[in-house]
Amino acid sequence: MADNHRHVTIIGSGPAGLTAAVYSARASLHPLVIEGIEAGGQLMLTTEVENYPGFVDGIMGPELMERMRAQAARFGAEFLTDNVRSVDLSEKPFKIETSETTYTSDGLIIATGASAKMLSVPGERELLGHGVSTCATCDGFFFRDHELIVVGGGDSAIEEATFLTKFASKVTVVHRRDQLRASKIMQDRAFANDKIDFIWDSQIVEVFGNGKVAGVRLKNVKTGEESEKPIGGVFVAIGHTPNTSLFEGQLELAGGYIVTRGEDTMTSVPGVFAAGDVVDFRYRQAITAAGMGCMAAIDAERHLEGIPITEHAW
Ligand code: NAP
Repeated sequence: MADNHRHVTIIGSGPAGLTAAVYSARASLHPLVIEGIEAGGQLMLTTEVENYPGFVDGIMGPELMERMRAQAARFGAEFLTDNVRSVDLSEKPFKIETSETTYTSDGLIIATGASAKMLSVPGERELLGHGVSTCATCDGFFFRDHELIVVGGGDSAIEEATFLTKFASKVTVVHRRDQLRASKIMQDRAFANDKIDFIWDSQIVEVFGNGKVAGVRLKNVKTGEESEKPIGGVFVAIGHTPNTSLFEGQLELAGGYIVTRGEDTMTSVPGVFAAGDVVDFRYRQAITAAGMGCMAAIDAERHLEGIPITEHAW
């Protein structure tokens, strides 16, 4: 095997990429994991993770990722801390260009994830994981009896606001217009929920607090008036951006997300598989991403062996 040729290359090192690495490595495929300069995915921006099975007392997001990485390395996965510059999926072997080398690979697993859109206001990054969150399912539980803000007016924001009323004493949706974008049924549910309030025509211009969120500065976009609001937590739900710019024009995408065949993880190009948040805009959990990473590794292994991936036993 030439120095720069691999059986399986995995792009991305969140739960999907690293689980694919564990499975591919244990299948003796010696995967190369191009982990990116900012390795580890969205869990690197999280503090405590309490819903990943097996960790009774919870685990810090970065430690969970470090453990997954070490587990993959133990079975022989090779790691490259570099970003992919371009890929050529037009013929086999596929070409993957990093800043130093161009690799060729028989199979490719894409696990480049998605990034939650952020407000980009002072205090937001510093307090991420300390009262600022992008995932109500992950972090809502930590905010029992707190007053919370959800930012956004789409289905995600309204779904998160409704979900958070299970824990919070009150949830205020801050939206930059005076009309929601969310579907009518979700809006009706939120308007009928007496724990949910709305602040219309407003943007958060600052999140503040000493080590944890204490409040936000709001600006009314129509009047320009600014005000401060004490708050226990801020959930930013203004959408996600799947990290797929490398694959535009080469793989079938829908809404920016990679389309897989549904019954397995194969993309529109045979031999290229995708897993995790780069595919999944619905569940977006570490455990679902890990599950898809496992599926992608098994699918890739079968494909490379020439075995039909989806074989119905019934
Ligand atoms: P979205 O539909 O794009 O909505 C984003 C919201 O955030 C919009 O209300 C937008 O305001 C606001 N926003 C964007 N950038 C902002 C900024 N910089 N500052 C303040 N507000 C900002 O995203 P989404 O809600 O995540 O939904 C994505 C897709 O998934 C949609 O197709 C949605 O229907 C679907 N989804 C479905 C469900 C469900 O059916 N259960 C649940 C979640 C998501 P404007 O309205 O002014 O543009």
